[in-house]
Parts: sequence; C-alpha cells; structure tokens
Amino acid sequence: MLKIFNALKNIKETFKTFFLNKVYIYVCGITVYDICHIGHGRTFVVFDMIIRYLKHIGYKVKYVRNITDVDDKIINRLIENKANIKIFIKRMIKDMHSDFNNLNIIPPNVEPRVTENIKIIIKFIEKLLLSNHAYISSNGDVMFSISSFKKYGQLSNQVIKNLKSYKIKKNKNKKLDFVLWKIQDLKKFKSSAYNYNFLWKSPWGIGRPGWHIECSALSYKYCGNLFDIHGGGYDLLFPHHENERSQSSCFLNNDKYVNYWMHSGLLILNNKKMSKSIGNNYSLKQAILDYDPETIRYFFLSSHYRKPLIYKNDSFKIARLSMERLYYAILNTKEYNYDNKESKYFEKKFKKSMDDDFNTPKAISILFDISKKINIEKKNNVINANILATKLKFLGKILGLFFLSSDIFFREYNFKVYKKRISIYKINILIKIRNFCRKKRNWIKSDLIRNKISSFGIILEDSYNNTFWKINN
Ligand SMILES: [Zn+2]
Repeated sequence: MLKIFNALKNIKETFKTFFLNKVYIYVCGITVYDICHIGHGRTFVVFDMIIRYLKHIGYKVKYVRNITDVDDKIINRLIENKANIKIFIKRMIKDMHSDFNNLNIIPPNVEPRVTENIKIIIKFIEKLLLSNHAYISSNGDVMFSISSFKKYGQLSNQVIKNLKSYKIKKNKNKKLDFVLWKIQDLKKFKSSAYNYNFLWKSPWGIGRPGWHIECSALSYKYCGNLFDIHGGGYDLLFPHHENERSQSSCFLNNDKYVNYWMHSGLLILNNKKMSKSIGNNYSLKQAILDYDPETIRYFFLSSHYRKPLIYKNDSFKIARLSMERLYYAILNTKEYNYDNKESKYFEKKFKKSMDDDFNTPKAISILFDISKKINIEKKNNVINANILATKLKFLGKILGLFFLSSDIFFREYNFKVYKKRISIYKINILIKIRNFCRKKRNWIKSDLIRNKISSFGIILEDSYNNTFWKINN
C-alpha cells in the first residue's frame, strides 16, 4: 500500500484516489524569465519520479503543470535585455523543455500558459467577488479577503497573527489579503512595448492577474473540482499554496478539493536556497554539460524528496561514481526476463521502500545490493547475473534511470569527467593482448599491461577462462 506524506495533515497517509485508478496531479511550473537552475531540476525530477511510480503500480495519471508567462520578473528581464517578447518567452520555454527532456522527465499531459487562460481567471475572480471572498480596494485592485476563509494558515500550519512575512500595504483591509487582479493606472503607466503585452480588459479595469489565482483557475480547468495531488517546491508552501488553497476552497465551497499536498525539499547551495532571484545559481544546462544528465538525475533522487538536498562541489562527482557502479554491474550482461526467488526478493524490497512515501534513497540502496550480487554472479552463475541485471535495469527505469546503454554511458564519461580515463574499447583490446601474453607465458609483458590498465583506476580479475575488469573506487 502506497503511503504519501500529506502536508495538509502533517502525516503519512495511505494513498486513495477520488476516481478509482485515475490520478489527477497538478504541479506548479516555472516562471519563464530565465533558464532553469538545478533547484528546478530537483523539483521536477522528484514529481517525475512520483508520476512514474504511480504509473508503475497501475494508475492512469493526468499530469498538469502550468507555465507562468506573466510576471514582473519577466517584464523586467525583457526591458533589461531589450528582447522581443515572443522570441524571449518561446526561447525560455524551449530551453526548459530541452533541460527537462535531457533529465528524462516525461512531459505533462497539459502545460497551460497563464496568458492563454485569462478568461477563466477572470471568471474565477468574478465568483469570488460575488460570494464576498474578494473585494475591490481603494486603488481598484481586486483583493482576496483572508478573513473570509476560516482555515487560512492551516496548510502551512501557521497562526495568522504570527505571520509577519508579508508586506503591509495601505489598501488592504487585512495585511495578509492578497491581489487577485492588479489594476493598471494608465495615467502613471510607464509605457513600454513590454508592459502593453501584459494587460487585459476585465470588469474591474485594464490590468493583469495576481500570481496565486492562475494555479487555482488552471487546476480547476484541467483537473476539475476534486483532484488527488497538488505539488510544488517547498518554497511555494507559503504564501503561494496557502493562498491558492484559500481561493479554490472558497470558489468550490469545499476545502477538501485536493487530497494530498506534496512538496519537494529545497536544493541548498552555499547554505542558501538555490534561487535565480538571489543569484545563487548553477544552471541545469551547465550541469548537464559539466557532467551528464543521468548523474544529475541520480543526485536528485539520492536523498529523500521532502528533505533539503545540500549541493557541494563534489556532489555530482560522487553521484557519477555511483552511476558508474550501477552501469558497471549491467555491463556485458544479457536480457533475461525470468523471475527467481532472489530477483523477486529484491523487487519486493524496492517496492516496500517506494511505497513508504517514495523513499528513493532506500530504493537506490537496493539497486546497489543487486549490483553487488551481479558482480559476484558474473563469475559464478552467468544466468543468475543476467536475471539480476535485467531486474536491476527494470527497477532503475522505474526511477527514470538507465536511460543510456552501458557502452554509451562509459564512453561519455571518458570525455566528460575523467579526461585521463581509458575507453572500454581500449580496456578490452588490452585484456585480449594480455591474455594472449599469458597463454604464451610471457609474464613480464602481461604484468606490464596489467599495470598500465591499473594506472587508469581499473582492476583486473582473472577467473579460469575469463578476465573481468572493475573500477577501483
Ligand atoms: Zn502554483
């Protein structure tokens, strides 16, 4: 039975869907004002892993992930770069898709853009006004009244009077009230071609939507009035998700419209949350160039999704070595789709870990247990080695790993991380020459070759009629 930690209740709960074997999941997407950093990579790899596992255990999944393409940061970036708005946003979205595709992230079923959904946002706000959950402030902005929702603060587990993190503005009835529709005062309007692209007509005047309302409107439009999982990075818990939940609960007259609120932990770099806006940044594109996408995906999954993940200078290097060990185990094995007692045992343990709130570090430790056994069985029982290697790949793929072949993985790493390293092709040639020397009892030459190979960090192991190599970690 799958258990999921529900942020709303602060406990792990047995997963139950609203509609039999169908899961509806909405995850807050990217604000497209810059290229993605590795913190984004973690968030979206985490939800990709969750979706892959849900599918693996038999659910049909509808995955909705929005694109925030209207925001002050986007306007500022456009002005800064004197960029063409359409080209800029198109490029940012293309870059995001390319980074996510490299990380083996399955695209969402629907990826709505805010600017293409203004009508439904306006309808949503209209209903909130009619039901007195919203009001028009003295400057014309439409505000959400948090006192109209008794459970405000419940999701982020906070008492309203203690919340000081919000700026106090004059026009709000309560200091935590937030904007649903921002009116543009055209007299004070700093005209720029960019600003005009982000204005729409509404019953309250020309302006644009506030940030939180987009996710309430889009989750309603694409997931309906009851859906199973709402996800996002931990930094969105407050105020974004708290505000979103208030809006949707009031709109639907039901505060239980989402069953599970899930948050992926932050990525910490130099003791700070990784964020574009504070310039604490390592882009995904660069990380993929510096290492390889699978190593980066592995690093994100190597710690539990809810915990903060600390990035250090050698994090990717260490992750790379781990991936090498896994790939090494399946190297030179054959597909053998057959379950024996041992392969079933490993699969059961893997499933138990994943059922426990997607405990990927535990699940990965089982992958290593399998790989150790394969390395032993390669010498003793080739059939069992093949059975276990097939299982290892099968389980790894549930996490979205093993998306390269071993040969490509090892060939790539020769070029990227350890430039001095030797290619598999060359190792195999040297082993052949060495075996030839051994047959001829030329021990001096055979030892010379062994030493040459070991200078690259490769250990040779001779068995009765074969020679195996492994990386000396
Ligand atoms: Zn959102």
